[in-house]
Amino acid sequence: MTGNAIEIDRLTKTYAAVGGEPPKTALDGVDLTVRAGAIFGLLGPNGAGKSTLINILAGLVMKTSGKVRIWGFDQDVNPRQSRASIGVMPQELNMDPFFTPRQSLEVQAGLYGVPKRERRTDEILETIGLTDKASAYARNLSGGMRRRLLLGKALVHRPHVLVLDEPTAGVDIELRKMLWRNVRRLNEEDGMTIILTTHYLEEAQEMCDEIAIVDRGRIVAQDSTQNLVGRLDAKALVVTPQEDTPIGELPGLPEGVEMSRRPAGAVALTYRRGEVTAGQLLDIVRAAGISVADVRSEEPNLEDAFLALTSHADEETSGEAGAAA
Ligand code: ADP
Ligand code: MG
Repeated sequence: MTGNAIEIDRLTKTYAAVGGEPPKTALDGVDLTVRAGAIFGLLGPNGAGKSTLINILAGLVMKTSGKVRIWGFDQDVNPRQSRASIGVMPQELNMDPFFTPRQSLEVQAGLYGVPKRERRTDEILETIGLTDKASAYARNLSGGMRRRLLLGKALVHRPHVLVLDEPTAGVDIELRKMLWRNVRRLNEEDGMTIILTTHYLEEAQEMCDEIAIVDRGRIVAQDSTQNLVGRLDAKALVVTPQEDTPIGELPGLPEGVEMSRRPAGAVALTYRRGEVTAGQLLDIVRAAGISVADVRSEEPNLEDAFLALTSHADEETSGEAGAAA
């Protein structure tokens, strides 16, 4: 072990063409390192490639190229050890309706070669709050209970690394709290490294010590949560142009100033205090031939950073913005 739970080098994944669809590159040269003991967030919009990355780690999807090491084991060289080091709670609810929770956990433990005497089925049922449903058929379990069972299944072989793919998408508040309690406990008491994906910024900010932002198959930022939020210890200048001078590109924007789109043709220019002044930014806007209708100053949020980094805001308004050129 190198102190890293996960090491990924230049990972790519292209899904083969199906029907009339062209091939789809879901991961495009991802480098990623996750420190052992971390609660690590993989944050990105839908379609960014998060599940593809997770499913490659889980051994469920074949990578196209690149290197993956889990707990120091190269997936290609030591497939068994690397697989034994990780447990994955998938995004999809796929389970056998004819198994009870107890049976599901036993079968899963069997698949991982956990000897009978080392199984912790009762303890896991307790952890996921399904003790009284241990003998109910899966088809009679609520959606929330099924998700908890998926968490249980990821734990049967005591993995060093636990991966949760969108664990709280569409779940109620109670289940969400229960999941977070469990995740924190597994991390603090059992020293488990946790990786979770989410498209909720707040969730990543609240739960994770480190965050990587994924967009269109690439990692666009990776930093401690504190630093990422610290990047935002900055201000945003929101400029609304006159209708006849829409804002397209802004030549001469200093490095580190990020532009994201706002409604009504406005842009938010996120900058760090001490590096640039609002006055300088306004001069740049005016130098681009833009007549300013309104300007105000804001404390930025993670949302702005996220948008600036993933640049989807540009896409949504490119119609208007493009017309400026
Ligand atoms: P996320 O989990 O971040 O929402 P995914 O990894 O599910 O993203 O998807 C990334 C991209 O790969 C998307 O464009 C998606 O449509 C595509 N994709 C995912 N799974 C498949 C598949 N089995 N076959 C073809 N394309 C896929
Ligand atoms: Mg996904």
